[in-house]
Amino acid sequence: MISAALPNLFVNLCVLVTLSFVLSLTYRDWPPPPGRALRWTRLGLTGLMAAALFLLATPGDGGRVSLALVPVVLMALRYGWSGGLSTGLPVTLLAGLDGHPALLSATLSLLSVTALTVRTRHLLDLSDVSGSLHRHGWVALLLFVPVTFPQPGHLLDWLVAYPTVLVMHAVGFLITATMLTSRIALIQSTTRYRAEAHQDALTGLANRRQFELDLPFTQPDDALLLLDLDHFKRVNDEYGHPVGDAVLRAVGQALTTELRGRDRAYRYGGEEFAVILRRVPPAEVDRVARRMARTVADLPPVQAAGVQGPPVTVSVGGATFGLWSRTRTLWDADEALYTVKGAGRNGVRIAGQSPAPSTGAARGSGDRPAEPHAKELQR
Ligand code: GH3
Ligand code: MG
Ligand code: MG
Repeated sequence: MISAALPNLFVNLCVLVTLSFVLSLTYRDWPPPPGRALRWTRLGLTGLMAAALFLLATPGDGGRVSLALVPVVLMALRYGWSGGLSTGLPVTLLAGLDGHPALLSATLSLLSVTALTVRTRHLLDLSDVSGSLHRHGWVALLLFVPVTFPQPGHLLDWLVAYPTVLVMHAVGFLITATMLTSRIALIQSTTRYRAEAHQDALTGLANRRQFELDLPFTQPDDALLLLDLDHFKRVNDEYGHPVGDAVLRAVGQALTTELRGRDRAYRYGGEEFAVILRRVPPAEVDRVARRMARTVADLPPVQAAGVQGPPVTVSVGGATFGLWSRTRTLWDADEALYTVKGAGRNGVRIAGQSPAPSTGAARGSGDRPAEPHAKELQR
């Protein structure tokens, strides 16, 4: 048996690694997307894998020796009993072609290997990229203990071949499990870095890079608000940077609570925020902008490094998107913002709309009236 087993196992190992690479390609997102389509695809693929491995092994005197139970263990680790049994069922039925003893032995192996895998599932989590596989890799040897049973009249052959068969199963499993774990690790880190690349670390809002990605997808009935904190430099200078940071975080949170539907807030610059409002009637834009300004003005004073921060206000410039270029909307909102700054800050102006009388939304900010904005002076 051993002389037939070795070449069979070697060919099986090569095919197993190749097919596991194909299996690893079904892992594309982490956390896994909802739905059962991927699960059925994987179970179909691993069922075929197991059958192919079985058929590739030539039948010997003491039965066929293949690595067909490796895909069974992979799916039992991922989906439990249902995963293991549905992957192993086709190959067990195929074993029936080699006679009753082979069918009995294959059924016993499938049930006991799946049972062991389900029992030790908590130790071998292939999605745990922090080293579950390295720490508990030895479990692989245990899982495959009942991988083959002696056929009547072939006990000695079986005893000689068994250690090799066991070790080859453990090696096959560790190689394929490592392939899947590295693929999942790659997807997890790509997902995290992609999210971080588009998120502002201080406020948790989307950042300017995300704003630039979203801008081309705005529609004519969307609107843009630019919000700039008033005299924020003074907050830093008089209360310290930790307080300034805490104010930025609080404003970011406040803006988030004001969003509805597909609206999105961004940290556009240091103390500048942008909000894209989706499908908003032009007459509503001013109302939404004032509500946001009031929310910021009503924020309770922040506490940071044992210092209580001051109340803050914000100046808001807005513009609607239309059939004209999006850059023009950006300029219009910017222009409107600087008009508010020039008019004394703590106010709202929407381009193309007559300025509504101040609602007194914000608390008094101690502004000196009509102090020109620094950037306005630069123009
Ligand atoms: P204005 O009302 O005209 O907008 O005045 P301003 O002081 O808010 O504007 P200016 O552009 O002069 O200053 C912006 C300040 O924002 C300067 C900078 O120190 C501060 N700032 C930018 N980013 C951060 C940050 O991440 N943390 C803190 N604490 N401060 C920041
Ligand atoms: Mg400012
Ligand atoms: Mg600014």
